[in-house]
Amino acid sequence: MLLEVENLKKHFPARGGGTVRAVDGVSFAVDAGQTYALVGESGCGKTTIARQLLLLERPSAGTIRFDGQDVLALDRKGVLGYRRQVQAVFQDPSSSLNPRLKVGMLLAEPLLAHGQGGDRAALRRRLLELLEIVGLPPGALDLYPHEFSGGQRQRIAVARALALQPRLIVLDEPTSALDVSIRAQIVNLLSDIQRSFGLAYVVIAHDLALVEHFSSAVGVMYLGNMAESGPSAAVFSTPRHPYTQALLGSAPRPDPDHQPAEGLILGDIGSALNPPAGCKFHPRCPRAVPACATEIPRMLRLDPAAGSAAPAHVAACHLLH
Ligand code: SF4
Repeated sequence: MLLEVENLKKHFPARGGGTVRAVDGVSFAVDAGQTYALVGESGCGKTTIARQLLLLERPSAGTIRFDGQDVLALDRKGVLGYRRQVQAVFQDPSSSLNPRLKVGMLLAEPLLAHGQGGDRAALRRRLLELLEIVGLPPGALDLYPHEFSGGQRQRIAVARALALQPRLIVLDEPTSALDVSIRAQIVNLLSDIQRSFGLAYVVIAHDLALVEHFSSAVGVMYLGNMAESGPSAAVFSTPRHPYTQALLGSAPRPDPDHQPAEGLILGDIGSALNPPAGCKFHPRCPRAVPACATEIPRMLRLDPAAGSAAPAHVAACHLLH
C-alpha cells in the first residue's frame, strides 16, 4: 500500500471553550496508481485531512504511513523526501500560482528548491517536457499566469505538481473553480497522467459526478468520521449508509429524468464543536432509531466475501448490524 492513514484525528480547543473534533478517527488506504476520493459536505473534515497529508497541519493522533514509513516521525531530511513525493493541486489556480512569476519560473521553482534543476539546458528541457505533458505550448514559459484561461492555469498547476515526479498528488477540489465545460478536460488530463506515470491521487471533492467516474475508491465523511467507504463502483451502485444514500439522492445527475430526492437530509450539517452524541448524523437522519441518539455505530464490513486486493466496503450505521 502506498499510503495508509489510520485513526487520524484533529482536535483543538474552541475559543469559547469546548473541543472542536474536526477529524475524529479516520482510516483509509491508497495503492500506487489508484485514486481515493474523500467526499462530504463542507465542514466534514476532508480538507483538514488533505492538509494533514501535506504536513501543513499536524494530527492530534493517528498515523500516516507512506511506502511503509511513519510520516509523522520523519526527520527534516525525511520530510523533504516526503514533500518531493507527495504534491498538491488546489481548487483555485489563481491563488495557488504566484502572479508575479512567469510560468517558466513557476515550474522551475520546485526543481531548484530540491536541487534537481540540473544545468540550464537540462532545466529548460524538463520545463518544456512538463508543458507538453499538460498540453501547453513552449511559448507558455514566458507568460504570466493571468495571461491564461482558468483551465490553462489549472494545467500549469498540474505541471508544477509533476515537476518533481511525485508518487502521490493530493487534489483539493481540482475542478470546482472551473467552468463546467472545462472540467472534463482537466479530469481527462489527470486520468491520462495517472496512467502514464502510475501516480496515486487523493481527491477531495463535493462533486459526486466527478468522483464516481474518477476514483477507484471513495470515503464518505460526516462531521469528522467516515460514514461509508469502499470501491467506488460498490458505494455508488449500492450505498448502504443513510447519509451516502441521501448525498447520492440529492446530487445533480446527468440523467435528465432523475429527480433529486427531496427531504432526505434534514437541516444543516452540525458542528464539529460538541457534535451530537451517538451517531453524529442522527439529528438529520430520516431512518434514525432510538439507539442512534446514544450509541456510536461500529464500522461494519459489508462485503466479507470480497478479495483482499479490493478495498473493503464498510459503513457505520446501526441499521446494518
Ligand atoms: Fe441514521 Fe442511526 Fe444509521 Fe446513524 S446509525 S445513519 S442515525 S440509522
